[in-house]
Amino acid sequence: MKLASRISRISVSQTMAVNEKALQMRALGVEIVDFGAGEPDFPTPENIKQAGSRAIECNFTRYTPIGGTPDLRKAIVEQHARIFGSNFRDSECLVNVGGKHAIFNTVSAIVDDGDDVVIPTPYWVSFADIVRYAGGRTVLAHTSEAEGFRLTAKLVEKSLTPKTRLLIANSPNNPSGAVIDNEEFVRIAALCHDRGIVLLSDECYSRFLYDGLKPFSLGAYPEFRDTLVIAGSLSKTYAMTGWRIGYVMGPRDLVAAVQKIQSHSTSNPPSISQQAALEALTGPQDSVEMMLAEYTRRRDFVVQRLNGIPGVECTSPGGAFYAYPNISSSYARGIKDSLDFSKQLLEQAHVAVVPGSAFGTENHIRISYATSLEQLDRGLSRIAQFIIRLDG
Ligand code: PLP
Repeated sequence: MKLASRISRISVSQTMAVNEKALQMRALGVEIVDFGAGEPDFPTPENIKQAGSRAIECNFTRYTPIGGTPDLRKAIVEQHARIFGSNFRDSECLVNVGGKHAIFNTVSAIVDDGDDVVIPTPYWVSFADIVRYAGGRTVLAHTSEAEGFRLTAKLVEKSLTPKTRLLIANSPNNPSGAVIDNEEFVRIAALCHDRGIVLLSDECYSRFLYDGLKPFSLGAYPEFRDTLVIAGSLSKTYAMTGWRIGYVMGPRDLVAAVQKIQSHSTSNPPSISQQAALEALTGPQDSVEMMLAEYTRRRDFVVQRLNGIPGVECTSPGGAFYAYPNISSSYARGIKDSLDFSKQLLEQAHVAVVPGSAFGTENHIRISYATSLEQLDRGLSRIAQFIIRLDG
């Protein structure tokens, strides 16, 4: 069948190749340690599940407003105000079918054919494909590993072109866990604002911060609001990846444009999930604290173990639940690149990781520590053995 040319602008994620192989091996009975999954290993908290069940029992199973129920929009802006000090109005917020949908629709509403979009590396795999699908050109801004992969205003400035329309920032970052320094983030927002460039801030991991870092959002700065869009998600914060609830907060005309797109594509986010999301935002928050405490323990464990492997270096993530070690010293010892490392690691040591090439850097692998300490211990021992045994 002849397909639309826009399909050829995007590719099936490289992560899938390793993933598929891992599934095949599992089907053959091989015991795989999976560090690939980008989702919490915790179940959705009980109170949230019950709210979903109640929604079904009460027949809350029909269409809702396209941008989500008024109650949920209100709960989103109120929680954001409480935690981050923002003051969005309900009319500046809209609910989507997950954070990815929020980003997809925002980029679709902003980027024209031929526009440049600055994406800092390492980047979450979907940013680049979403931009290309919308007709934009990706301009990669390579953050420095020596500076902990933190984005700086200087780097953003160097990456701007006369055609720059949008910058996508993600802090805490997937895959590096880097958290942009608050003052630097404000400088970046000011730079974008001065040049009329939209800043899309992906806050998907904003509740998972370590080392006493305080919650931060550019939404708390009214002076940037006409060029700022926030994309959020309940997927990670409340272990709700399958429920598919995300949101956009930004200028009213942007929210109206996203609403228009949704009116012809997804219609409303699932009604049942919206009721569960309402409970997540307005009910007890102890599950978030529990998960953060557990991720902190795991982060410390993983970073220490990785840095103890000869030739491996890993910066300590400030947030999210991924470690992004540099494994390039193995390239002199029979490994070609990060994809080759990931394939050989899977075949020989039965550990699934994601190659750095999927995130725009070549010297790394991503390890998700959204898995038990026991699995982490087992997998990290296997990685250490694998590296020690490499040729040379
Ligand atoms: N943004 C980042 C950086 C992510 O890592 C993810 C998921 O992995 C998302 C957004 C989207 O999450 P969801 O669509 O599940 O809400």
